[in-house]
Amino acid sequence: MDKGVVFFGPMPEVPNRKPRMHVVVPNSRAYIYHLQRHARKIGVDIRVNQRAQRLLRDGEGVIGVECTDSDGSQRQYVARGGVVLTSGDFSANREMKARHISEQAARIGPINPASTGDGQRMAMEIGARIVNGHFSYTSLRFLAPAKQPLTQRIPPWPIATKFIAWALAHLPESILRPLVLSYVTTFLVPELKMFAEGAILVNKNGERFVDELDKPEIALLDQPDQCGYAIMDDTTARKFSAWPYYISTAPGVAYAYLPDYRRNRPDVYACGNTIAELAQRRGIPVAALEKTVADYNQAAGKSGNTRPAIVKPPYHSLGPIKYLMGFTEGGLAVNESLQVLGKDAQPIPGLFAAGGVGQGGLLLLGHGHHIGWAFTSGRIAGRNAAFLATTEDLPEE
Ligand SMILES: Cc1cc2nc3c(=O)[nH]c(=O)nc-3n(C[C@H](O)[C@H](O)[C@H](O)COP(=O)(O)OP(=O)(O)OC[C@H]3O[C@@H](n4cnc5c(N)ncnc54)[C@H](O)[C@@H]3O)c2cc1C
Repeated sequence: MDKGVVFFGPMPEVPNRKPRMHVVVPNSRAYIYHLQRHARKIGVDIRVNQRAQRLLRDGEGVIGVECTDSDGSQRQYVARGGVVLTSGDFSANREMKARHISEQAARIGPINPASTGDGQRMAMEIGARIVNGHFSYTSLRFLAPAKQPLTQRIPPWPIATKFIAWALAHLPESILRPLVLSYVTTFLVPELKMFAEGAILVNKNGERFVDELDKPEIALLDQPDQCGYAIMDDTTARKFSAWPYYISTAPGVAYAYLPDYRRNRPDVYACGNTIAELAQRRGIPVAALEKTVADYNQAAGKSGNTRPAIVKPPYHSLGPIKYLMGFTEGGLAVNESLQVLGKDAQPIPGLFAAGGVGQGGLLLLGHGHHIGWAFTSGRIAGRNAAFLATTEDLPEE
């Protein structure tokens, strides 16, 4: 907060007895914006477009890193103190996902394509190991818009973020919802309840490919572009306009309903007076979607089938929906000083890891724990690495 980051809350969150959830305003870009400004102010030399490829060594120890520039040329950086790996998780590394999780997990695309597992790979090349490599977090997601809306491009200046935090606490919900949701363009998680209440899931070809209530995410992996759309009629759409029938949770307003998507997410929401019009708007083959809905309606309402038919116009669609991997939990084994452990569980001199790559076996299950770990472990590892510039010994904890 000293550096300019503004939080709303703390908000209540089960199972905590006290409100503890701090919601960063307007979104997590604020961390990056304010921390890089502060780092530049105190003279930190930030180099971008440098992909670290290999750790430089002097005997057993690590003394620096070799990077590839955006034009393909190689550069070496030698550390004054130690090297801290902070390259995140390996959810975008197909081969590591297959090895540590499963072949099926390897087919699940990442939300963050920069989570390449480079840090884990570089450290493992010199004897480090991954702990809890088999844990990952996956879910169905609405894709984020391809283009950032204007609200996302405005820097999180304190004057704007303090106003948003004030508005969250004081303005009535009717004014607040559109304001807050205009900032919510992240990959939101669709509620499967809409399928139990009458929506169907179709692929890009307009075909229904799975019983929506029986692991639709797995079947989605085999569809064109691994992508699907929820289709519903107006009866179901109206139901999902108020509590307890929400489309997804959403930061700031807790739950987002169909009208929120209609207003704020034209990239995800479409509507048509006929199934054909809806299909055209979504770029789905018209005849195929008409046949899918007709087949579904024929079965709806028959004995044992409690799901309602799709009959009342206008018709609505939400998507694209994909099954994506948010993050993997497997980090390098580290000690309490965040030193990476190598052969015989001994620290590799000069090498530290923080954040996802330095998770060291921690399972972070609560909201905010990942960001909390990234900041806390980063601070400890950074301090210890800097300390090595002046002495061989690390400070006492
Ligand atoms: C959709 C989504 C929602 C989330 N929501 C929450 C939440 O609400 N609360 C929470 O606590 N956590 C959340 N998380 C998890 C949290 O974002 C991560 O755990 C956290 O960002 C990890 O921080 P990190 O610094 O270790 O890695 P990252 O934030 O992934 O940063 C790693 C950086 O290293 C760079 N990099 C990778 N390889 C190299 C290389 N070879 N050379 C140079 N640079 C490299 C990457 O480009 C990236 O910029 C969420 C994650 C996702 C995907």
